[in-house]
Amino acid sequence: MTRHAPGRLVVVSGPSGVGKSTVLRRVRQRAPVPLAGSVSATTRPPRPSEVDGVDYYFLTTEEFERRRAAGDFLECFQVFGREHWYGTLRSEVEPRLAAGQWVLLEIDVQGARQIAREYPDAVTIFLRAGSVEEIERRLRGRNTETEAHIQQRLNQARSEMAASEYYKYQVVNDDVDRAAGEIRDILSQLEKNQDV
Ligand code: 5GP
Repeated sequence: MTRHAPGRLVVVSGPSGVGKSTVLRRVRQRAPVPLAGSVSATTRPPRPSEVDGVDYYFLTTEEFERRRAAGDFLECFQVFGREHWYGTLRSEVEPRLAAGQWVLLEIDVQGARQIAREYPDAVTIFLRAGSVEEIERRLRGRNTETEAHIQQRLNQARSEMAASEYYKYQVVNDDVDRAAGEIRDILSQLEKNQDV
């Protein structure tokens, strides 16, 4: 009988615009653990380059609701600032975990909290842009932003920082290779410490 360690969930969130997908692509190219992806479902319409079943499962609101009622989702939410639903399908995650794979979820803060409740050993990582002071220095240094815009950006950064406290790891994306390396280090460290 083959025995393997059960897989783990790796949840990554972060504000849009910090280059999350670029960093995660880099992590997956040379992952230190058997890292699988998960295709989410959404009610938002596909963008021109997106393919159904690859980027997302694009569902009608009725189909999404039907699957939600059937208990098909591990978590699903209306993502802040967008009127559409997004959700992680159990069928994308559970078979891979059972096969010993680590499953990467790129989801919002609400989804991450739900996952952490259901899977307390999920690895939660918040990818962020830097400290509020650093962002302020950068915005003021440009000398092109209005005070109202600076304040708006800083408020947004503060609420993201507050949300990031709920994550086990915080990674600053100051440089794509460095941030990807830090995430790889977190994963290999966890694998080493895991009971097989
Ligand atoms: P986009 O519409 O730009 O592809 O994604 C918008 C946001 O939805 C991103 O912040 C992404 O993290 C989040 N998201 C994508 N899939 C899921 C999911 O399955 N569940 C949750 N909660 N958020 C998701």
